[in-house]
Amino acid sequence: MSGTTEQFEGGCLCGAVRFIATGVPKGIYWCYCQSCRRHTGAPVAVFAAFDCEAYIVTKGEITKFDSTPGRTRRGFCARCGSTLTCESLPGPTETHFHVGAFDQAARLQPRRQYFPEERLPWFHIAEA
Ligand SMILES: [Zn+2]
Ligand SMILES: [Zn+2]
Repeated sequence: MSGTTEQFEGGCLCGAVRFIATGVPKGIYWCYCQSCRRHTGAPVAVFAAFDCEAYIVTKGEITKFDSTPGRTRRGFCARCGSTLTCESLPGPTETHFHVGAFDQAARLQPRRQYFPEERLPWFHIAEA
């Protein structure tokens, strides 16, 4: 173990919501599912997963919406609409943050793919 603990700060587009995640993400992955597509308006989502105890919301609050009641809860900024999180229900024990919400998203490269069968046919990536 190194002496320094990694921290990842982030927030929404307008700055009303800010958070800090600590430690190495449990996973970083592409999600091609249609539900993520709808929530983000983007062809694909990329998430970094942290345990619920591994982050704190330092400003404002993440507004929640159950996109699939009993299964999936999504978070966003109620002021600017930025997509921020996705959580599995019941629980949740971990929160998956959209990497675009982090100040240093370049440090969060995805290594896995979820729901590749729902990927848009014209969307190609160099590596995953
Ligand atoms: Zn905002
Ligand atoms: Zn998804």
